[in-house]
Amino acid sequence: ASIVAGAIGALSEVMGEAQRAAGATERLLELMSVKSKIQSPVTPLALPPRAANGAALTLNDVMFSYPSRPETNSLDHVSLDIQPGETVAVVGPSGAGKTTLFQLFLRFYDPQHGSIKLDGVDITQLDLHTLRDAIGIVPQDTIIFSANAMENIRYGRAGATDEEVIEVAKLAAAHEFIERLPQGYQSFLGERGVRLSGGQRQRIAIARALLKNPPLLLLDEATSALDAESERLVQSALEAAMVGRTTVIIAHRLATVQRADRIIVMEDGKIVETGTHASLVALGGIYANLAALQFHNVHIAH
Ligand code: ADP
Ligand code: MG
Repeated sequence: ASIVAGAIGALSEVMGEAQRAAGATERLLELMSVKSKIQSPVTPLALPPRAANGAALTLNDVMFSYPSRPETNSLDHVSLDIQPGETVAVVGPSGAGKTTLFQLFLRFYDPQHGSIKLDGVDITQLDLHTLRDAIGIVPQDTIIFSANAMENIRYGRAGATDEEVIEVAKLAAAHEFIERLPQGYQSFLGERGVRLSGGQRQRIAIARALLKNPPLLLLDEATSALDAESERLVQSALEAAMVGRTTVIIAHRLATVQRADRIIVMEDGKIVETGTHASLVALGGIYANLAALQFHNVHIAH
């Protein structure tokens, strides 16, 4: 309970909340539902059987403004149809509404207009646990708990066996660095333990998501530059994480957008361009400018 209280006290970042939701800790979910005033419906609907390769996600004319800024539409007439198994990259300048999308998917807020459906069911009709159990999050800044490496990954799904933890650590390219820690998986991490690099923290987050094995994965790619080796390892971990599920990724890396099935470009709460990397570069619009200015590892271009 003290870890929980400490985590809540320490976290004000929005995606920190999302990350805790993704951890599927019942108590945290309850606390968050109270805090965000979002309630499960009295008579929730069940999700229909879903495609083997992931969830379907549909946004229909979503309008949303934050309660504290009712005059600004943080999402403005957003419609989007994401197929099971699809990888969608969301790009756009700061303040475009990318993170807000994720917040609505997780029901930290409800839109004022329009609907969001998971596998055809309006998410306001689902029990919050059903919704959040279906979603895995890899946030921009991974929270590492004061616990050993094994428990830090097991946070993705309480009750997972040690073998399962090690299996996902291997897929997430985290196993090797963990084994090299002084006490391997028993090594204590966090503020008073081993401090991990940015790339290592990201791979822990990806391992957690793999352990949860959700049909819908939301990735908020870290903006921090990584050294080439970390970059390569994180990339391979991301690739493992996307297999067999629907992925929506707020992308900052060229390698990520190039591999996406579809790129959604947002600006001022609106979807302003949609296409592949090649088609959007050829379009010569907002995306082409962003790509020229923003993406890391530009040497992969063309
Ligand atoms: P992005 O992730 O694309 O940088 P956001 O989704 O965080 O953009 O923000 C979209 C818009 O909503 C911005 O105008 C931002 O200032 C506003 N916004 C984001 N979070 C909040 C919040 N908690 N309260 C009020 N306004 C917010
Ligand atoms: Mg953001």
